[in-house]
Amino acid sequence: MNTAALSQYDVPLHTQLLIGGSWSASADGRRLPVINPSTETVIAEVDAAGEADVERAVRAAAHAFEGWKSTTGAARAARLRSIARGVEAQRERLAALQSLNNGKPLAEADIDVSDVVATFDYYASLAEGLDTLGETEVELPGTDFRAWIRREPAGVAALIVPWNFPMVTTAWKLAPALAAGCTVVLKPSEVTPLPELELAAIAMEAGLPPGVLNVITGTGPEVGARLAAHPSVAKVSFTGSTAVGTQVMKTAAETIKGVGLELGGKSSIVVFADADLDLAVDLIAGGGFFNAGQMCSATSRVLVQQPIAAELLARLAQRAENLVVGDPFAPGVQMGPLTSCAQYARVTHAIAEGCASGARLVAGGTPPERPGYFVRPTIFADVPTESALWRDEIFGPVLCVRAFDTEAEAIATANDTQYGLVATVVTRDAARGTRMAAALEAGVVWLNSPQVIFPQTSWGGYKQSSLGRELGPFGLAAFQEIKQVVRPA
Ligand code: NAD
Repeated sequence: MNTAALSQYDVPLHTQLLIGGSWSASADGRRLPVINPSTETVIAEVDAAGEADVERAVRAAAHAFEGWKSTTGAARAARLRSIARGVEAQRERLAALQSLNNGKPLAEADIDVSDVVATFDYYASLAEGLDTLGETEVELPGTDFRAWIRREPAGVAALIVPWNFPMVTTAWKLAPALAAGCTVVLKPSEVTPLPELELAAIAMEAGLPPGVLNVITGTGPEVGARLAAHPSVAKVSFTGSTAVGTQVMKTAAETIKGVGLELGGKSSIVVFADADLDLAVDLIAGGGFFNAGQMCSATSRVLVQQPIAAELLARLAQRAENLVVGDPFAPGVQMGPLTSCAQYARVTHAIAEGCASGARLVAGGTPPERPGYFVRPTIFADVPTESALWRDEIFGPVLCVRAFDTEAEAIATANDTQYGLVATVVTRDAARGTRMAAALEAGVVWLNSPQVIFPQTSWGGYKQSSLGRELGPFGLAAFQEIKQVVRPA
């Protein structure tokens, strides 16, 4: 598949920087190629922002802040709803663009588009509430004073996002930032900038004033690091690897700016002997192979209770072998390629290391012939808990299976990680499900449930997986300052 996937829509792609309401080239004219991971061919070139462009974008956002901040929540909500309708109207084109740039099957890309729509609609409803709830009186019994808490937009927000769910990650930050009254400089991943540039074009058509949303494409060190360091940026919201998140936090510390981090994971799915095995196989495959396993929430550690371990493993191996891997635009394809050459190198290295670790390979392993960054769904059993395979995030379609005896052992093994993003539990015993949900150190616990995520709830994890939370009211609060006002009664 190539750009023909998009030619039917007859709309040129946006490839320039969006600054102050206008599309423009980078100051020094540098450009970066964007690759189709299914074919390893160049889809387009986008502008590569440098220092001067970062300055211009932050200045445009700072300039637009006073105006956007003083709009009513209802007015901001109207813009967010228009963005949601614009995304809906371009659903097919946006999904195709995501598949082309990221490699995920079209059906998965369509789910992403629905998520974006739901997120903008949800934060529109919270923005409307700000007109009445933005100021809250505090009870001060026995005093002669009255006090209010005001929630005000934090200022210019820098949003730095990865390539695995480009539009969704962006929407989870952009919608609450705009709802709160912040202005934004968005830095998409250099690997998948095309979907966000189209989202930005839709946002401009929806009537966002110039400078409220600025999008600068470019590399992490040249754009992301500069945004994290910039004194006029009040808040940096970052999603990506724990290694880069640590850097962002250190850089942001120099100017004591607010930091939100959504980082890596090495999450578990725990399957008890009383589980519905068909459901367990579905949930394990979904948690391991959706988006070719390139999910921060991948439940790549499979803990299965001893009595059903052999049968579950046999069924899983069969599921993995039957999974249809191929062109994301072809009907029936269930898994596309990895998104980049660098990720392909990381995942194939992790698989080779896994084979040498003493773990038992039960499915996949060798990648198909290139071109395309395709990897087969891969399963290892009896994985040593001290191995890199068990401990490190792989970010590819690689499952590690271990058997356990007791509930306490499952909890201890699942929690024995630097990460704590999500967990899944499969059991018919409701009381055990409740105990496990309390005991697992994770920001989300799915009980007998696929990885559904609702904008009304929360997103983020324990330990080195996150700092703060996205989605729900927490996502909005991340872009607000709190101010108290006091006067004699
Ligand atoms: P990455 O950390 O390499 O890059 C993320 C973003 O940061 C990109 O836009 C990149 O250009 C930018 N960047 C790189 N160096 C930078 C620097 N020095 N300063 C500022 N910005 C910089 O991550 P990735 O490879 O794009 O994404 C994969 C990672 O993202 C995985 O670890 C995954 O778990 C994580 N992730 C987490 C969540 C979550 O919600 N917790 C969601 C999606 C992805």
